[in-house]
Amino acid sequence: MPITNRAVLIVSGGMDSCVLAHYYAAAGFQLHLLSFDYGQKHVKELTYAERYITDLRARYSNLEIMHDTIDLPIARLLADSDSALINTNRQMPHGHYTDDSMKATVVPYRNPNMLLQAATVAWNDHASVVAYAAHQGDYSQYPDCRKIFVDAFNTLLSVSMEGQQIEVESPFMRFTKAQIARLGATLQVPFELTWSCYEGGSDGLDDRHCGVCGTCVERYEAFRVAGVPDPTAYANDPEQYLHIPGRADQ
Ligand SMILES: [Zn+2]
Repeated sequence: MPITNRAVLIVSGGMDSCVLAHYYAAAGFQLHLLSFDYGQKHVKELTYAERYITDLRARYSNLEIMHDTIDLPIARLLADSDSALINTNRQMPHGHYTDDSMKATVVPYRNPNMLLQAATVAWNDHASVVAYAAHQGDYSQYPDCRKIFVDAFNTLLSVSMEGQQIEVESPFMRFTKAQIARLGATLQVPFELTWSCYEGGSDGLDDRHCGVCGTCVERYEAFRVAGVPDPTAYANDPEQYLHIPGRADQ
């Protein structure tokens, strides 16, 4: 029988994942957190995942919080990939996300690959839930962040094995990133321990976010729209790429 208060969460080093972990911890779930090394340029994010998970364990010392990093070497077979996320020869697009620039960050079948690993761990843990932190802004270019994908994946799980019921959840699917920031602030999430930038501190950026890639601009905008203090050190001011609806100066 699955244990209903045990969840396996897919977490990167980013703010959405950190809020996801806090959300389930606050609800009292025992957690098995899984991070993936899939050849991403910004592998630095995994160091940040370690940091916020150490902090999470201290805050929720009543919970069992396990963390494992899974090596997913598919990306190494895709050296000529169109994705600037894993192909170091491709330039990361700058500026606010557009449909085209988001396309450059698609890694084929990334989420189904990760979710299948997570479901396997959930089976072994007798966990009832697998969750990941897709949000509304991921909808346009990432099909594996949409409801139709989650529903189809749950069907796949139910016909792949008999016995345990494991359900994939995507609780932030209808949230904007600003709403996730606001929820995180309510849960007192340590955003300073999270990492978003796709440049991953390369070219001397070290612990500074580049401030010009799509995910940096999205992060900056989320904090601004949410009215939540942004603890991020940006090497360049993301303000130059910002387009907030209703702002007079655009
Ligand atoms: Zn960046």
